[in-house]
Amino acid sequence: MNTLSHHLTDETLQDYSAGVLNAPMETLIACHLTLCPSCRQRSQLADAIGGLSLGDEDAVAMKASASDILSLDKTTAQIDTTPPPIEMQLQGVPKPLARLLPGPMTELPWKSFGPGMKQFNLGSQPRKEGAFKLLSLDPGSRMSKHTHQHRELTFIVSGSYSDELGQFKAGDIADLSADHHHRPHVDSDVPCISLIATDAPVIFDGLFGKMVQPFVGI
Ligand SMILES: [Zn+2]
Repeated sequence: MNTLSHHLTDETLQDYSAGVLNAPMETLIACHLTLCPSCRQRSQLADAIGGLSLGDEDAVAMKASASDILSLDKTTAQIDTTPPPIEMQLQGVPKPLARLLPGPMTELPWKSFGPGMKQFNLGSQPRKEGAFKLLSLDPGSRMSKHTHQHRELTFIVSGSYSDELGQFKAGDIADLSADHHHRPHVDSDVPCISLIATDAPVIFDGLFGKMVQPFVGI
C-alpha cells in the first residue's frame, strides 16, 4: 500500500520535464518516481504538455496553464497502486540511488559532522553548483529553524522526521523553495537517512552551520 504523503510540486515536475534541473536533483526525483504512481502520472502529463509545439497558439495557451492542469490532475487522477518492482525496493534504497552507491548503506564511508550526525558525499560537481549527499541523523536529532532561497530537494530513504509541514517518511520528498521556514527533528526510533540535492551552496552551508552550531559551539 502506498502511504506516501509528501510529493513533488508542479513547478519541479515541469522543470524536470524541461530538463533544466541538475543531475543530482534528477536522480533524487527519479528515486521518488520509482515509488510514487501519482507523481509518475503527473510527470508524464508534464512531458506531454511540454512536448506541444510552441508555434501553435492553442499549445501556448495550454502550456501556460500547465500548472492548473497538473493541479487538477493531482486531485482527480486515478491512482495506480501497483507496487514498484522488487529490485527498486532492495534494502529500501530506490534503484536510481542504489546504483550510485559503492556498497550497502551500512558500509558507506560516512563522515561524522556532530554527535549522531554523519554524511556521505555523492557529488563531484563544484560547490557553487550545489550539494548532493546522504545525511544520517540519529533519533532525536533536531535542526535549527531555517529557510531556503533556492530549491532544495530531500528524499527520505529510511526513518522519518517531522517539521511544520508534517511527518516525512521513507519515500516521501520535501520539495522546498523560498518561503519555507521549518525546523525538522528526527522522530523515528532508527536513524533518519535522507538524500539531499541543492542548486546553490550558500543555503546548504547555512543549514549545516545551524545544524552543527549547538554541538560544537561555533
Ligand atoms: Zn509523489
